[in-house]
Amino acid sequence: MQNHFDVIVVGAGVLGTFHAYHAARLGKKVLLTEKDQYPTQATVRNFGQVVPSGMGSEWFNYGLKGIETYRQIQSEFDISIRNNGSVYIASDDNEVQLIHELKKVMDDRSYEAQLLSTNQCLEKWSALDPNYCKEALFFPQELSAEPETLIHRLLIYITQKFPQFTYHPSTTIIDCEVNGDHVNVVSHLKEKFTADHVIVCNGGEFKLLFGNFFKSSGIIISKLQMLRTRLMPQIDLEGNILTGLTIRRYESFQECPSYQLLSTPEHLTELKKWGIHVLFKKAIDGSIIIGDSHEYAEAHQTDDLGFSQNEYINQLMLNEAKRIVTFDVTQIAHSWSGFYPQHNEKDIVEMDIENRIHIRTAIGGKGMTTSAGYAEESVAKILKP
Ligand SMILES: Cc1cc2nc3c(=O)[nH]c(=O)nc-3n(C[C@H](O)[C@H](O)[C@H](O)COP(=O)(O)OP(=O)(O)OC[C@H]3O[C@@H](n4cnc5c(N)ncnc54)[C@H](O)[C@@H]3O)c2cc1C
Repeated sequence: MQNHFDVIVVGAGVLGTFHAYHAARLGKKVLLTEKDQYPTQATVRNFGQVVPSGMGSEWFNYGLKGIETYRQIQSEFDISIRNNGSVYIASDDNEVQLIHELKKVMDDRSYEAQLLSTNQCLEKWSALDPNYCKEALFFPQELSAEPETLIHRLLIYITQKFPQFTYHPSTTIIDCEVNGDHVNVVSHLKEKFTADHVIVCNGGEFKLLFGNFFKSSGIIISKLQMLRTRLMPQIDLEGNILTGLTIRRYESFQECPSYQLLSTPEHLTELKKWGIHVLFKKAIDGSIIIGDSHEYAEAHQTDDLGFSQNEYINQLMLNEAKRIVTFDVTQIAHSWSGFYPQHNEKDIVEMDIENRIHIRTAIGGKGMTTSAGYAEESVAKILKP
């Protein structure tokens, strides 16, 4: 019975870890496995922006629940959560119109949002360029995390808090099959485990388990390019800074009446072609993360995206960043690529096998914001008697 668990979760990215956390909170005996020594994928390569304000209506609620969960855990244990808010900077009349419309949506939801003038923005974030910043919409309650710290701290917290929770890193699950009233699970070291339920949160890893399902699942992989400046503690740019191209991209704005009438000005055409929207996040160490871009491939052709950086895309991002802020954005210390799976018609991919194996992946670009909230509901449904 030692190797039998109520729930085994495969994959210790943010989605899997929060599934394991919520199952442990319900008193379940849980095993969380991670193929790598520690999570190395999307969960540690992102901005760490927790921005329900950018989500469409259903996922907005998961984002709110996520904020609540992050705050509650942070009050007990430092998982790197900070409350500096999120701001959307509008750079032209169309974007100004959209932030006014989103303000109304958020007022109707009783979610605090403040419209800020150029001067109010400059008082708060002196690094912004007054020529770019026409007006802004600020969400004071939103959070940011340090992606390279958060998941490791969260795993320590869960391990310390729940004695019936076990975490096995460096444990790749290579087989997972229903056998009557339980699931048999096998690792690459030929360890055998059994569970009442297995939840597979494999992120963009489609070669190890259920390859045939993923091949025809309609999942696509998105590659994002990211840049980090050298340490600039003196630059005044706290919180999640989202700009005009984000206003033209995020789902919450797509639900606003004027969105349908929006056209792309000439100077943004090339940026949109590469899926670029410029965001800034100042890390705790004083460096500033700048991104991102989007290139796509089907799930079974992920390798075509490559791992190297396209310098042309980085230059496009930096040229746009120069319009937005007044400090020298070319002082880049390093750059990296991040990848996440998404589905064009579904907000997340859910597939259940005999009500014992539960695949949950392709949460897209919203996982740091919504995983905690979504996983709570997902676990409750899976474990429903
Ligand atoms: C550049 C970038 C910027 C982003 N910025 C933000 C942001 O600011 N805010 C936001 O909300 N979201 C953001 N996102 C999205 C967010 O990072 C993802 O939605 C989220 O991390 C996905 O988590 P996951 O657990 O599904 O996947 P992953 O992080 O990929 O984790 C899956 C894990 O499963 C493991 N695994 C897979 N197969 C097996 C197996 N068979 N056995 C054992 N382990 C296995 C993998 O090793 C991996 O660690 C960003 C993403 C990127 C790439």
